[in-house]
Amino acid sequence: MKCNCGFVNQEGSKYCQHCGIKLSIKKSILSRDNISSTGTIAGAGAKGVSVAPLAYMNGKEDSKVASRFTITPLEDGTWFCPLCGEKNTGNGCRGCDFTR
Ligand SMILES: [Zn+2]
Ligand SMILES: [Zn+2]
Repeated sequence: MKCNCGFVNQEGSKYCQHCGIKLSIKKSILSRDNISSTGTIAGAGAKGVSVAPLAYMNGKEDSKVASRFTITPLEDGTWFCPLCGEKNTGNGCRGCDFTR
């Protein structure tokens, strides 16, 4: 899960730890809906098909995946939450219940 900024994020990250930008989650969408044959995942999402269930499942994954993340703080000690993209300075995320 390499970001455009060059930082390599751990698998399952939704946001880059280095710059906080939202990362692509094509992989999880593909495995979940099995619609890789269309080749237009982004377009399919625009239809709003199963958006709610997808978000729900992602939410369930968050709590399971969160403990696997190893946060790599920036030079000034701040870090971006891999789950919600919030920029934090302490050990806990201000945007969600993630704790590094
Ligand atoms: Zn980045
Ligand atoms: Zn967060």
